[in-house]
Amino acid sequence: MKIEIIKCLEDNYSYLIIDENKQIACVVDPSEAKPIIHHIEKNKVELKYILNTHHHYDHVGGNVELKKRYNSHVIGFEGDKERIPGIDELVVDNQIWKKDNFEAKIYHIPGHTKGHIAFHFYKEKKIFTGDTLFSLGCGRIFEGTYEQMFNSLNRIKKLQKDTKIYCGHEYTLQNSNFCLKHDPKNLKLLEKIKLIKEKIKNNLPSVPTILVDEIECNAFLKAKDLESFSKLRDLKDNF
Ligand code: ZN
Ligand code: FE
Repeated sequence: MKIEIIKCLEDNYSYLIIDENKQIACVVDPSEAKPIIHHIEKNKVELKYILNTHHHYDHVGGNVELKKRYNSHVIGFEGDKERIPGIDELVVDNQIWKKDNFEAKIYHIPGHTKGHIAFHFYKEKKIFTGDTLFSLGCGRIFEGTYEQMFNSLNRIKKLQKDTKIYCGHEYTLQNSNFCLKHDPKNLKLLEKIKLIKEKIKNNLPSVPTILVDEIECNAFLKAKDLESFSKLRDLKDNF
């Protein structure tokens, strides 16, 4: 399984998950169709599945055009069937979604939106976290509660430490400044920031990140309890 990272809009990432044996692919959160089409044609794959983590326009903007062009199947959370454009297949918490050689567990992780989900390709140890967990940050709480977001992050935290995390935005550099402010002596964080800056300077994505790095460096995953998490989230909103 090969992953292509596709930059979309201002700072979004969509991901093409390619099965190189069958030359078929899934796309995660196509913000817009054009860059996705470019990568599909470059890789000469058939786009069979469109996976959406949540309904925000910058994650589903390409759904309808891609579906029409490639006859792809749109997969999203059951609770968001009214607001994910072109949705064909509804998934629920803890379900194993399995098609062709693609196999992912669905985690319902509300907080950013009520219907946010993650796709965990557990065999490959890769998880697509949308706008819930970012590298060195987490999503804003738009529809859910602090408690939901805290619990959602804790679910991701329990995965195997070497799980690769593919998130919805390139926010890593701004996020790192916030983490550094709250954890200035964290050597691992300082080391990670060095690597992030190098990547950004070379116009490379800072993602994927690895769960163990996030557990040790991400202020939101380091929060000991709901109260300190909520405080951090408020501070970040005004950072
Ligand atoms: Zn969002
Ligand atoms: Fe987003």
